Amino acid sequence: MTAPTSPAPLVRFAPSPTGYLHIGNARPALINALFARARGGRFLLRLDDTDRERSTAAFAEAIEEDLGWLGIVPDLFARQSDRVALYDAAAERLRAAGRLYPCYETAEELERRRKRQLGRGLPPIYDRAALSLTPEQRAAYEAEGRRPHWRFKLDHRNVGWNDLVRGPAHVDCASLSDPVLIRADGSYLYTLPSVVDDAEMGITHVIRGEDHVTNTGVQVQIFEALGAPVPVFGHHNLLTTADGEGLSKRLGHLSLRSLRAAGYEPAAVRALAVLTGSAEAVRPVASLDELAGLVDLAHISRAPARFDPHELDGLNARLIHAMPYAEAADRLAALGVPAEGAEPFWLAVRANLGRVAEAAAWWRVVAGPVEPVRAEADAEVTEAAAATLPPEPWGPETWKVWTAAVRERTGRKGKALFMPLRLALTGLDHGPDLAGLLPLIGRERAARRLAGETA
Ligand code: GLU
Repeated sequence: MTAPTSPAPLVRFAPSPTGYLHIGNARPALINALFARARGGRFLLRLDDTDRERSTAAFAEAIEEDLGWLGIVPDLFARQSDRVALYDAAAERLRAAGRLYPCYETAEELERRRKRQLGRGLPPIYDRAALSLTPEQRAAYEAEGRRPHWRFKLDHRNVGWNDLVRGPAHVDCASLSDPVLIRADGSYLYTLPSVVDDAEMGITHVIRGEDHVTNTGVQVQIFEALGAPVPVFGHHNLLTTADGEGLSKRLGHLSLRSLRAAGYEPAAVRALAVLTGSAEAVRPVASLDELAGLVDLAHISRAPARFDPHELDGLNARLIHAMPYAEAADRLAALGVPAEGAEPFWLAVRANLGRVAEAAAWWRVVAGPVEPVRAEADAEVTEAAAATLPPEPWGPETWKVWTAAVRERTGRKGKALFMPLRLALTGLDHGPDLAGLLPLIGRERAARRLAGETA
């Protein structure tokens, strides 16, 4: 007998297109995408764009582009602004069931009431005054020109679930205000549309940040009120900077697009976004499949996932140091490195790079023009080197053979031998192993640089 298998998961990432995604948003996006990937499931990108004023098409486009850069290609796509008829139908059902009721308080009235409650030492929970409005009172408000906002009538009970990250979890809904689902202008807040979409699209697992735990208490009640199956929930910790500062869309330098522009590899951003605050050490992981194998929701920490943006530098460098040529080829071509020689060039310089784009400067060292640096005191080295230049073809052994000959002639060794050669050949006192660069520089350019010519 085979064990019953659960259906392949369908998960979603549901950003509002009101800003650029930042590394903190990459965390739920990746955790969801990798969760589906590891289980043969599917990933939905849903744009929560019910806030018409703040949502823009440009941000929506940027979200898709930034996810693509991270390596996430959604299997399904939806936007809430296309689905309002479904929300209207659900709202109607809640009204009919007595779970959605109109309220006429203005923001100022609510605020005054809140202060009064706090002053009396009471929790500032909505007092449900609107529930006892008579039809005449409602009509009077309407005649005044007031339009109602609509609240969901919570059952005052504990809502519990088995959280993928937190284990047994619960929210005491008696301590919450009845949430507003529809604003006075008729627009929806995120709470109801999200439930309607999750139910209608058959989302199996809702995996999101722990800032949504309270919402889950409310939303489980809405699923139940609509007679929809309740998905499995998981709430991961949020990424915060080392000083505990939360990330907001305002932290522009940590937006995915600015990280991309700064030359970070998506794999570096992925590793930091996903492995921080997990049971796994933060380390470079080039492949999505391997990363998917490392994401274990049950082992995500309950503490905030603190990270230092500078960790990206180290991760990035380590990824580049191990990056195969095939992966770098197109980017080297775009930097102007000719295809011929690009592979040995990449293997020679990658260990010196923090960003792929830095390869351009090393290519200039190969192809020139380089202004050689020569000290009088080292003339014996460059002269001996010029006199012993081996004939071409040059290969990986040339440097060793040649410097052995120069050592023989001058009696110099170590730094006293190598530094004058490096300064003459590259114009710099640091850089990649010359054994790799020398065959690319070639005999003619090497000879001219040793003679002090710019070449
Ligand atoms: N639009 C919501 C947000 O960005 C989605 C939360 C959820 O995943 O349900 O916070």
